[in-house]
Amino acid sequence: MATLELQNLTKRFADGSDEIVAVDDVSLEVGDGEFLVLVGPSGCGKSTTLRMIAGLESVTSGTILLDEEPIGDRPPQRRDIAMVFQNYALYPHMTVRGNMRFGLEESTNVADDEIEQTVTETARMLEIDALLDRHPRDLSGGQQQRVALGRAIVRDPQAFLMDEPLSNLDARLRAEMRTELKRLQGDLDVTTIYVTHDQTEAMTMGDRIAILNDGRLQQVATPLECYHRPANLFVAGFIGEPSMNFFDVTRTDGQLVATGFEYPLSPSTLEAVGDRTDLVLGIRPEDIEVVEPSRAANYDGESHAFDANVDVVEPMGDENNVYFTLEDGSFTATVHGFHSVDAGTRVTVRFPESAIHLFDAETGEAVH
Ligand code: ATP
Repeated sequence: MATLELQNLTKRFADGSDEIVAVDDVSLEVGDGEFLVLVGPSGCGKSTTLRMIAGLESVTSGTILLDEEPIGDRPPQRRDIAMVFQNYALYPHMTVRGNMRFGLEESTNVADDEIEQTVTETARMLEIDALLDRHPRDLSGGQQQRVALGRAIVRDPQAFLMDEPLSNLDARLRAEMRTELKRLQGDLDVTTIYVTHDQTEAMTMGDRIAILNDGRLQQVATPLECYHRPANLFVAGFIGEPSMNFFDVTRTDGQLVATGFEYPLSPSTLEAVGDRTDLVLGIRPEDIEVVEPSRAANYDGESHAFDANVDVVEPMGDENNVYFTLEDGSFTATVHGFHSVDAGTRVTVRFPESAIHLFDAETGEAVH
């Protein structure tokens, strides 16, 4: 049981005569037993952050505290942290039992029968007890993943670090393991940092998610908070599928003017906007209502409705993604249930002011 804290963690790599700032002044606190997902696009510094915590990469500056103790000077095996890698990193010449025992034999002086008991119990919990005498090459990807988890669990560490542990599994197994891993972590109650580039994994698994871009932390919050109240344009565009739509707008008196529509704002929103004139309006595809053509006349002259051209309709089963074009750009709406929208037609769309997000066009920070 432990808290894990990063204080102003920075990592620079030399790149010829240049320098890469892989991790840039990251400060973060992971609570005791918390499942924190570190998420961001490829190359944003996730693995480097994890490797520094594990002691596999040196720290340029900053501090790592485990249970309030600095651990930066300790070698990896003395950090009491277990890491699970994307490629499982199992020893091919050892059986499943050997792989699981290895971590324990290395790092502690536990009696042999106690090691055996721990391995057997963990294998049973992970439903791999029938595989203990097999070698990794004789296991499926999903089974190898369980062995890698088992090897981390038997060590009973203060924290788990997981680097994209599900990315080598097929989509169905990945979805299954997502749920299982989350349940397991809850049962074991071990502080965990889980790295992924997949926003769905982040949203479904994290107690909180930490979003990283270009080495910098963008927002640390619950998945729903990141979804409903993104701190900036990057988070807004990264979280949610299909992505949030963005429109460049100018505030003129009491309304926003975009190429293709005008959008009046209420006094409280105007107050949040302050004296900014250049903004970005964000609206999630599921918050856009596509008005049935037979009802369009009801919205004639309504201030939050406008017309747009339907470019493509993508049926997804119980919902459709409808791609629109405007004079200057495009946007997407997600429509649930049966809906008679045809490509090539012009239809009315509307969205309520309560659903819009506004960002400062210069800084990208959320203003509303
Ligand atoms: P991915 O999801 O693709 O694994 P990531 O978010 O884990 O990416 P990192 O592997 O941490 O990103 O890399 C962050 C940045 O640091 C990248 O620009 C990468 O090229 C650079 N980098 C990582 N390791 C080294 C190294 N040993 N030497 C030089 N640059 C490195």
